[in-house]
Amino acid sequence: MTKPGFLLPILLLAALGANTAALADAYAERRLNLVRRIEDDARSTAIWSGRASFDARVLEAMARVPRHLFVPEKLRRYAYENRPLPIGFGQTISQPYIVALMTDLVEPAPGRIVLEVGTGSGYQAALLADLGMRVYTMEIIEPLAEAAKARLEKLGYGNVTTRWGDGYDGWPEQAPFDAIIVTAAASHIPPPLLAQLKPGGRMVIPVGGRFLTQQLVVVEKDADGRIRTRQILPVRFVPLRRKH
Ligand code: SAH
Repeated sequence: MTKPGFLLPILLLAALGANTAALADAYAERRLNLVRRIEDDARSTAIWSGRASFDARVLEAMARVPRHLFVPEKLRRYAYENRPLPIGFGQTISQPYIVALMTDLVEPAPGRIVLEVGTGSGYQAALLADLGMRVYTMEIIEPLAEAAKARLEKLGYGNVTTRWGDGYDGWPEQAPFDAIIVTAAASHIPPPLLAQLKPGGRMVIPVGGRFLTQQLVVVEKDADGRIRTRQILPVRFVPLRRKH
């Protein structure tokens, strides 16, 4: 004997569950499409960047981290387009291709310790954490720092520590770092960050003025502490600000 009174809620629940799953799948599929566009971009910019493809682990992480949860809710439908989006306070979440490139350039590996300057939404930090890195990230705009901290905690990125402060000075208590990623453009490479890079470590930083062409620069410190810099690509980032 059937009991429609019981059956109906069960059917409803099943339908709801299917819906949520379908939504999650839709985002997952869009993420995969975005990864394909990033791969296309990598091929077409190889002449400048010297990289025709990115580390597969970086692309797998991009296919996992839910970028739509790092952008303002009303912009969610654009989350998997390959472009920067506003996140409030005049700041932006970077273009996914640039995030992939910068992540690839620091040679991420599980257990390595990385400093990010410019937390913004927390997306780049989440990506580095997804790759198994121990992440320290600094943001100069307090409400952004707080929102990113709460978001990263809620999403379960336990290996990220967020701090409100001026990243120009780095994070001496946690230094030295295997890698440093700066996601705002500086007029020069901040000496404190150079000092906080481990021998054998790498920093990726956009260098240039607000109205001038900025260059994405890779800084390598060799085992003897010698510094080598390489220009990768022209880019456009919001400026690195100073607290004082
Ligand atoms: N990586 C971010 C996007 C960064 S946008 C993301 O994944 O969403 C650049 C961020 O750098 C902005 O939020 C800006 O407020 C921050 N910023 C600028 N100058 C800074 C400084 N001196 N120290 C720390 N953060 C800074």
